[in-house]
Amino acid sequence: MKLTFKSYTLHLKHQFTLAQSSRSTTPVVLTKIEYENYVGYGEASMPPYLGESHETVIKFLSKVDLKQFKDPFQLADILNYVDKIAPKNSAAKASVDIALHDLLGKIMNRAWYQIWGFTKEKTPLTTYTIGIDSEEVIREKVKEAAPYKILKVKLGRDNDKEIVKVIRSVTDKPIAVDINQGWKDREQALDLIYWLKEQNTLFIEQPMPKDLIDDLAWLTSKSPLPIIADEGVQGIADVVKAKDIYHGINIKLMKCGGMRNAREMLSIARALGMQVMLGCMTETSCAVSAAAQLAAAVDFADLDGNLLISNDPFDGLEVVKGKALANNEPGIGVDLIDENFFD
Ligand code: MG
Repeated sequence: MKLTFKSYTLHLKHQFTLAQSSRSTTPVVLTKIEYENYVGYGEASMPPYLGESHETVIKFLSKVDLKQFKDPFQLADILNYVDKIAPKNSAAKASVDIALHDLLGKIMNRAWYQIWGFTKEKTPLTTYTIGIDSEEVIREKVKEAAPYKILKVKLGRDNDKEIVKVIRSVTDKPIAVDINQGWKDREQALDLIYWLKEQNTLFIEQPMPKDLIDDLAWLTSKSPLPIIADEGVQGIADVVKAKDIYHGINIKLMKCGGMRNAREMLSIARALGMQVMLGCMTETSCAVSAAAQLAAAVDFADLDGNLLISNDPFDGLEVVKGKALANNEPGIGVDLIDENFFD
């Protein structure tokens, strides 16, 4: 097995503004694993707040030696080896995990949602993200979001009601809101959640800073809407700790290290009676298509990362009637648009 990787910079269609940050590009590293006549693709996406960069991912991937493994069906051994190379580096690890899953799916000639036994028709509608912006741009973005039936709205500054009112002035579609840890006072947060419920809101993502465990647990016990952990739950080890603090978790491949861990987090969350959301970073169709393999098994899907960029090197998942669906191609179902991309 041969691993190849390439740094790449994604350009965002709009400046992407969250409660604490704003940016117009996202660094990614794309990976390729070759075995016999098969090629699997993977991706690491590194939004700045997770601490990985082109440099750290390249450094990590340079240490990965897949030649010691004869066969990609040693998936568990290979991923355990990769995990032990260094702690953290979850996006770098995800880029190997996704490429290996893609490779194996192609050898088996099945998409991963089929291998896992999920029924694609059960996939929930995907949300489409509207970042924090001026009134005019928000109205424009809502128009661009016409194919999507649920909008995800980034809140958590001091003008939350104004932003929602602007959106409500142009559409009555249901919204999901992501606070990105922006609310600091639990009583005010609860008041806002009751107000948001009247505005046809489906759930609240990461309302307060992840370290305010007692406040988050209080809010979850009182909230009329589901409270979903994002920043508060990164990998497998965090899921059990999230019970009674949140109603559900947002699984992202870049946080948890890839498809294997995401699948395990789903099982653990279900065993704990928790809801599950499936999210992504700004990513190419490669990593989003990998996540989409799990989408039929979750309550809420937020798989719009590839739609927010203007230079996607892959073709992959498709949006059909508001659902982000894995296609029926084997593996994760992606094709490089320029086949010389890695040269
Ligand atoms: Mg979030």
